[in-house]
Amino acid sequence: MCLMEMGIAMCKRILVTGAAGFIGSHLCERLINEGHEVRGLDNYYTGSKANVSHLLDAGSFEMRRHDVAKPYWEQVDQIYNLACPASPVHYQALPVDTMRTSFLGALHALEIAAACNAKVLQASTSEVYGDPNVHPQPEDYWGNVNPYGERACYDEGKRSAEALFYAFRQEQPVDTRIARIFNTYGPRMQINDGRVVSNFIVQALKGQDITVYGEGQQTRSFCYVDDLVEGLIRLMRSGPEQGRDPINLGNPGEFTIRELAEMVIDMTGSSSKLVFLPLPADDPQQRKPDISRAKENLEWAPKVPLKDGLAKTIDYFDHALSKDGQVSEPVRLPNAAAGAPLSLAG
Ligand code: NAD
Ligand code: UDP
Repeated sequence: MCLMEMGIAMCKRILVTGAAGFIGSHLCERLINEGHEVRGLDNYYTGSKANVSHLLDAGSFEMRRHDVAKPYWEQVDQIYNLACPASPVHYQALPVDTMRTSFLGALHALEIAAACNAKVLQASTSEVYGDPNVHPQPEDYWGNVNPYGERACYDEGKRSAEALFYAFRQEQPVDTRIARIFNTYGPRMQINDGRVVSNFIVQALKGQDITVYGEGQQTRSFCYVDDLVEGLIRLMRSGPEQGRDPINLGNPGEFTIRELAEMVIDMTGSSSKLVFLPLPADDPQQRKPDISRAKENLEWAPKVPLKDGLAKTIDYFDHALSKDGQVSEPVRLPNAAAGAPLSLAG
């Protein structure tokens, strides 16, 4: 029984869309462990039932298959709107669905929040900054996004969701939060997710070539999932003054993609070699969050260094691959896969 039903006010009824995904499953787990009643929604496009099956025993968790682009109803106190493919491979495979999910998913979450007087948090992204000309990226930077290209379905989808959050609040008194999430990694990413951390780890563990796009000089800042979940929860709990404007959540430690590849090879003891493939269109050249606002407003900063987070993630994939029987393969972006390797390095 939920603590709320026992008359204890702390317990909330919380909806998490995209619950069977990588971040969603960790968020649900944390909320359930805190004694909340959690409803998960997912269409299982990039998520998996295995990510949440262990939570079903809790009794305070229910999963429902649903596409958030279609209207739905839940009576809840809080909504975390995470549903959306996040890996370039998957959002570029279904670009129209990605835009539909981003915009209509946000609209439906807002409508429920307005009707229930619930708080609603939108999972936005560092992609709203595009290929940034300002480094590191603060929240008041408007970005450098190509609105008519491979990544536009995701970047502009997420930007339109932010604009919708702003517009909705002009017309109705809804308590909204926007988290601009920077590259996050950890256990429960899919083997075939296609993003760089899972690709490199799976390739290294299988002794396959490590697929570096371009020369690997582009940078990213990698946040371990536990840190990110802590940030999301603090943002949801923040008051209207602290949480009114979008907030960057990410780890400011910045690494080149080549450094990441070398670190993964080193940590797995792999014999894999780097293979350099063409850089995908509009791939941001540098990315690092300015987290001053999160530090000040939420008293939040990430704690897990990249090496520690990678060690946990490597353990996870090691186990997942032994169960998988080596069937699943990391996937590449089509344009990166189409080109012959530019060069090989040891
Ligand atoms: P993920 O792909 O693992 O999870 C997304 C989940 O949403 C999946 O379970 C998927 O099946 C579900 N989904 C997709 N479309 C849906 C739809 N129309 N209806 C219902 N469910 C749907 O990705 P993730 O990394 O866990 O990302 C979660 C959220 O965080 C996304 O909104 C993403 O844009 C955002 N985000 C993630 C990162 C990151 O680095 N992980 C960075 C920036 C933003
Ligand atoms: N990348 C790579 N090899 C891969 C997958 C990705 O070199 O197998 C690069 C990609 O070109 C980008 C960075 O790693 O520069 C991060 O890619 P990811 O898809 O993880 O996320 P993004 O930040 O680009 O959305």
